[in-house]
Amino acid sequence: KNLPADKNPQNTRRQVTEAVFSYVNPKKTKKPQVLHVSPEMASELNISEKETKSEFFKNMFTGNEVYPNTKPYSMCYGGHQFGNWAGQLGDGRAINLFEVEHNTKNWKVQLKGAGETPYSRTADGLAVLRSSVREYLCSEAMFHLGVPTTRALSLSLSGDMVLRDVLYDGNPAYEKGAIVSRISPSFLRFGNFEIFAARKDVKNLKVLVDYTIKHHFSHLRKTSKENYITFFKEVSERTLNMIIDWQRVGFVHGVMNTDNMSILGLTIDFGPYGWLEGFDFGWTPNTTDIQHKRYRYGNQPNIGLWNLYQLANALYPIIEEVAPLNAILEQYKIDFEIKSLQMMKSKLGLFSSDENDVELVKNLEDTLQLVETDMTIFFRNLSNFSDENSGFHLIKDSFYELETISDDVKNKWNNWFKKYAERLQFDRISPEERKEKMDAVNPKYVLRNYMSQMAIDEADKGNYTLIDELFQLLKKPYAEQPENEKWFAKRPEWARNKVGCSM
Ligand code: AMP
Ligand code: MG
Ligand code: MG
Repeated sequence: KNLPADKNPQNTRRQVTEAVFSYVNPKKTKKPQVLHVSPEMASELNISEKETKSEFFKNMFTGNEVYPNTKPYSMCYGGHQFGNWAGQLGDGRAINLFEVEHNTKNWKVQLKGAGETPYSRTADGLAVLRSSVREYLCSEAMFHLGVPTTRALSLSLSGDMVLRDVLYDGNPAYEKGAIVSRISPSFLRFGNFEIFAARKDVKNLKVLVDYTIKHHFSHLRKTSKENYITFFKEVSERTLNMIIDWQRVGFVHGVMNTDNMSILGLTIDFGPYGWLEGFDFGWTPNTTDIQHKRYRYGNQPNIGLWNLYQLANALYPIIEEVAPLNAILEQYKIDFEIKSLQMMKSKLGLFSSDENDVELVKNLEDTLQLVETDMTIFFRNLSNFSDENSGFHLIKDSFYELETISDDVKNKWNNWFKKYAERLQFDRISPEERKEKMDAVNPKYVLRNYMSQMAIDEADKGNYTLIDELFQLLKKPYAEQPENEKWFAKRPEWARNKVGCSM
């Protein structure tokens, strides 16, 4: 049960029942400093540029001042982590401040890293600068890529130091604490529904589903069993669409636990995520998942389905029919094949249908994985394809070790280009138009892991200009930006196997 904030000043950690949230107080911090604000997000929230520079903004978005007459809260959820039910999780370091209504949209505003909550379990409720830079830059980059995502408004230093498990000479290492303000129409996750089902609290499960339909699936209007089924169907479709977009741009989430799956099909929780450099279905950025690689690039669509099974189980008590839920899950598999092919074809600039398309795509994916081949550079350069003889030359910048490529690999590429050239003949579309369409789905600039790392290293030294440079760059990921050509480059050698950290 919720205690009013004034009765729970310590945000005491606890098991919570019959509630989807608890009131909490953000932690006061020593010397807050706003490092960056997203102007696009500020304008969505009707916050002027002048206001973003105010003391009030700084204090509010670092948890040092609570907006008058609002009651911050953290949400309760459970989740399946790496395939196992983990019990109550909840917002361990996220605090919802309030909602903003503007231009007929409703936004929830949340702080990440503003101190402990009832759901902090054994952790501190804080976030460090490196993870916050990564979350801030990536959420806005995803938005500009056209991938459904939660957003970010601001990145700030708390002014406090945070203890993390990095040890130098056996001494505890402190890092700069930071707070990101995150924005979304809803932060509800599959886990919010699962926790009620796990507790056999069907009454509140229904309250939550009814609330979700009323506010976020309002076209379904009345709540009935039939609409609960349609609700699940729409969540399933949105989840698949989001994952297809991830596959298209080469984004690997890294922790697709059910507590990190948004009920609106938005990318949420930018932890140990990473971007593909070499195209590799087996790649994961999550160093704690190296053994099983559950959340590897090529497995994301399957995991989306696995997670939907958990949601179906959670919703079952209010639907009480297996067949329609199963039908939706079966449809996911069918839709996945269709949409995945469509997506890959769009990356290749193919718009008509041919019976050999599946094979052409499969063959490409195999060939791409023969030697380390940069996904972003490959697809971007491919839009300049003219004939099979110059194909290999066109993509040579995408190879990490061009000098060591064997004749066998070269032949395989030439074979593929031959088939591709033949296939292009079928499509009645000019090369110019094809290029334009390909460049609109194959980004030129993505937030490569080494780029965040450089911004973090600079920020650690108190220099924040690279954060802004990358922020500006990633606003136009599909455009040619001649002045930024240096960011259209393979990962430098120093950054090999160096990926960000989630905490
Ligand atoms: P994640 O793997 O980031 O989705 O986190 C899993 C759970 O751990 C969520 O309930 C988080 O809120 C919680 N958590 C992660 N980091 C912290 C932290 N520093 N303090 C408190 N809770 C945390
Ligand atoms: Mg999470
Ligand atoms: Mg996280």
